[in-house]
This record gives sequence, C-alpha cells and structure tokens, in this order.
Amino acid sequence: MATTPRLFVDSTLAADGGVSLSEDQARYLGQVLRKKPGDVVRVFNGRDGEYAAHIADFTKRGGELVCQQQTRAQAASPDVHLLFAPLKRQRTDMIVEKATELGAARVQPVFTARTNSDHVRTDRLRAIAIEAAEQTERLDVPDIEEPAQLESLLFRWPENRRIIFADESGDDDSRAWGGDAGRAPPIAAALQKFASQDVRWAILIGPEGGFTPEERAHLRTLAYITPVSLGPRILRAETAALAALTIWQSILGDWRT
Ligand code: SAM
Repeated sequence: MATTPRLFVDSTLAADGGVSLSEDQARYLGQVLRKKPGDVVRVFNGRDGEYAAHIADFTKRGGELVCQQQTRAQAASPDVHLLFAPLKRQRTDMIVEKATELGAARVQPVFTARTNSDHVRTDRLRAIAIEAAEQTERLDVPDIEEPAQLESLLFRWPENRRIIFADESGDDDSRAWGGDAGRAPPIAAALQKFASQDVRWAILIGPEGGFTPEERAHLRTLAYITPVSLGPRILRAETAALAALTIWQSILGDWRT
C-alpha cells in the first residue's frame, strides 16, 4: 500500500499555514516521487503533530506547501536515551537508524577507553535520524548529541535518570568474558522491578572491545546504574543496542500498550 510521503520540516504547522521545503525535499518530491502541485503530502515538525499539506509550488530553491488539516496530534516518544560507543561508520549509521525506529528520544555517542572510532559526523547522523523518523511514522526526531567522554558524561549525570549498563562481563579476569561470577542479572528481570515506578532511563552499550575492568568497576559503584546481562552470548555492539532498546520498550516503554 503506497503511503502518502512524510516530511520532517522546520516550519510551524497550522491549518492554511505555509511550509517551506528545502531544495533536497523539493527534489525528492518533484523528481524522485514525481509529485505535482496539488498533490498531498504529510508533514511533521516534532511540536505541532502531523498535517496533510498540498504542494503549492516548486521553486528554484525549494518549494512551498500549504497545510490543510491536522492528521495526528503531537505525541512524545518514550523518554529513553541510548548511549553507545561509536563504531565503524555503517554500523554507527545502523544504530542511529534502528534506535530511531525503536523510539529512542536521544542518541548520545560516548567515547570509552576502547572506543575505536574517534570521529562522529553528527550532521550525517541527524540526517539518518530524520529519514528514519519519516519512514517509521514518528512525530518527532531523536536528539543526536555531540560525542562525549564517558567519564565527563557520568560526572554531570542527572540524578533523576538511571542508566541500564549492558555488562557482558563477569568478575573473574582469569576467565573469558570474566566467567560466571558476578554477572549482571538478565535484563528482563532487572527492568521488571521498575515496571510500576516512574523512572527516566538511558541504556549504555560499550565498544567492540568492551568496557575496561576499571570502567566496569567504576560504573558498578554508581547508585543510578542498573547492570544487566543480554544473555549468554557476546553480542556485537549494534545487536546489543537494539536488543536492549527492544526489551526496554517491551517492559517499560510504549510496546506495552
Ligand atoms: N567485551 C567483548 C569484547 O571484548 O569483544 C565484547 C564487547 S560487545 C562486542 C560490545 C558491547 O555490547 C558490550 O560492551 C556490552 O555493552 C554489550 N554486550 C554484548 N553482549 C552482551 C551481553 N551478553 N550482555 C550484556 N551486554 C552485552
């Protein structure tokens, strides 16, 4: 079933209000989708809900839409943040795209001791998040934050938000992945305890090389940390990020309704 195209726009949205299209948006509608003046699209801006709007005109530098009626009232995405150590470009791109589909409100690249990517193009990640939000029928786009060092993030961490620490290790440094001793509880059991509480959350996923023993030990001293296991196998970071977000949505997020 062909759906009406959806575009994320900056303009304020109101009935009969004008909406300016960027050059890329006009090109996409006119040249890729072959839309013509009079055709209807859907627009959202993260504040005013979603509107049906018809194409008034294409211009050299973009185009103009005119809003008709509101098709959906604004609704906030669940308040969950994803903190992850940047990976190689395609895998970081995938985490941002899937985290958007899975409803993350904020995506925060975090540099840890073993992070092997030292540069993150946040403008590129924002474009990926917008495209994913348009496709996934969200009414907002996740905030894509500038990368931060894990230590400095923890130093200024807000008291009212807990961190789900995806901890793949045990405590026995002589064993692969730290053996079984001191392993974190399974994520579902760990989160179930909070199901009836009003808690704000973030999910922390480590780099390909995992967290260092020092990072792990420090994280586990913090009262707002909930260490969790994502099962008996070692997942790639992108798999872990999406698995943790999925389980969070199922137990504490908007997959419950
Ligand atoms: N430490 C391993 C290494 O040295 O290759 C694997 C790190 S894993 C590729 C990347 C991140 O995914 C981990 O730091 C952790 O946050 C998460 N992760 C992967 N498997 C996990 C599991 N079974 N339980 C909890 N977290 C896991």
